[in-house]
Amino acid sequence: MTVAAPDTLSTETRAALAAPGKLLIGGDWVDAEGGTFATHDPATGGVLAEVARGGRGEVDAAVGAAKEALGRADWAGMTPADRGAVLWRIADLIEAEADVLSEIEVLDQGKTYATARRGELPGAIAQFRYYAGFATKIHGTTIRPSIAYQPQGRQVRAHTLREPIGVVAAIVPWNSPLLMAAMKLAPALAAGCTLVLKPAEQTPLTALMLGRLLERAGLPPGVVNIVTGFGHEAGAALAAHEDVAKVAFTGSTATGRALLDAARGNLKKLTLELGGKSPALVLADADLDLAVPGLMRGIFANSGQVCVAGARVYVDRKIAGAFTDRLAAEADRLRLGHGLDPASDLGPLIGPDHAAKVAAYVEAGKRAGAEAVAGGRLAGEGPAFYRPTVLTGVRPEMALMREEIFGPVTAVTPFDDIDEALALANDTEYGLATSVWTESLSAATRASESLRAGTVWVNCHSYFSPELPKGGHGISGWGYENGAPGLENYLETKTVCLSV
Ligand code: NAP
Repeated sequence: MTVAAPDTLSTETRAALAAPGKLLIGGDWVDAEGGTFATHDPATGGVLAEVARGGRGEVDAAVGAAKEALGRADWAGMTPADRGAVLWRIADLIEAEADVLSEIEVLDQGKTYATARRGELPGAIAQFRYYAGFATKIHGTTIRPSIAYQPQGRQVRAHTLREPIGVVAAIVPWNSPLLMAAMKLAPALAAGCTLVLKPAEQTPLTALMLGRLLERAGLPPGVVNIVTGFGHEAGAALAAHEDVAKVAFTGSTATGRALLDAARGNLKKLTLELGGKSPALVLADADLDLAVPGLMRGIFANSGQVCVAGARVYVDRKIAGAFTDRLAAEADRLRLGHGLDPASDLGPLIGPDHAAKVAAYVEAGKRAGAEAVAGGRLAGEGPAFYRPTVLTGVRPEMALMREEIFGPVTAVTPFDDIDEALALANDTEYGLATSVWTESLSAATRASESLRAGTVWVNCHSYFSPELPKGGHGISGWGYENGAPGLENYLETKTVCLSV
């Protein structure tokens, strides 16, 4: 297993890593009063770069800059077509820099280069192109009210205006940093909002590079501000700020709950894209040549650090043995290593603490009777590698079946009929996503109508596109991103009533 980063990093990547840690506030790159902190390569544990430690003062300045830019003529007065053109240019610039952005993402997050370059970069680019088209299609409606009475024989005519909600705090996690940032910036900018982006402390680097690209795309100063730092400092100050109208958050359910309290003061609007414990149902007629590789990606991509990862697999008892053997064999074949090594199928987890947490869930499960038919152990090399793990012999009440592990771990449970499978799948407080594997249209339809989740995939898992609304039921979140609902998050409706 190779855990060292190759010594062939591009000149651009080296320059980005060597750049002094600064914050983007009001169009200027500035130091943080709190100094800097180190960001690491999770494959090696080595320091990659020093990043500014933003705190309350910097958050105040960034929100102030965003508030000032909100009504300024160079942003508020920009035509919708020009705003769309800026978004399109951002997409073009990300595309032009996709190799470097992917390299930096791999170094900072640990994912494989293929995951970054073929999956997440195209996803980020697609976000900006999709919402670029929306900028020219935001409009209200005219309304003829029914209540007839008006003094002096006058009549009422009415119309609605769609207005940007205001200053948005975009707070994102470490698992897919650039993509998560794009999912907030693109619709918010299309709507005419201004933002303060706080990337996760573990993965700030692509956000900072994105800041440079936003400037080159012609985004006016202060429209997007970037404050790196810690959740309990910069994140908490941002979430509670009285001049922030909306928090667009992706992260854990625990932090989502904390944001509810932070929003109390000015009753700011919240969208919460939170954790999951996603089930996959493999019915007896499933095409295993499709289901096994499809679920391998759906469970283990990004080392299982995906909100929708298939953490619970329910398989018809008639095929459970064959399915589990194949899944375990494929999991055992996966090669772990540095994400920039083309031979690696999976990279590390985000850090040693997280790897220890994943290991603790599996060890507790084993003590309670679960069996690891693949993996079930730290990989032993590098600080944060964990073998892809398939567990059997699990029970619904085990913590590893109820809580989000956010690692390369799944549990296979046999079922006897579809009613049992649906009940097992829905036996969770989460409700993010689920997949059903079957050749039967009626079984797929029934399952998709019965499963409690924001997304149901049939014969695929973890498929995303900006056109498709995504969100969580239950404790997996509030609201939807992507598609037209994703834009609505950033718009207010104002009704104008005219007595004529
Ligand atoms: P997290 O700990 O909740 O952190 C997410 C972001 O919130 C980070 O930027 C974090 O900053 C910040 N933060 C932490 N405490 C805060 C506070 N009190 N106030 C304001 N901001 C605060 O989540 P994570 O561990 O980074 O990410 C993994 C989680 O994200 C998993 O639960 C996963 O399922 C979820 N996720 C959900 C989706 C979805 O679409 N539903 C997508 C991806 C990930 P620091 O990094 O400095 O702590």
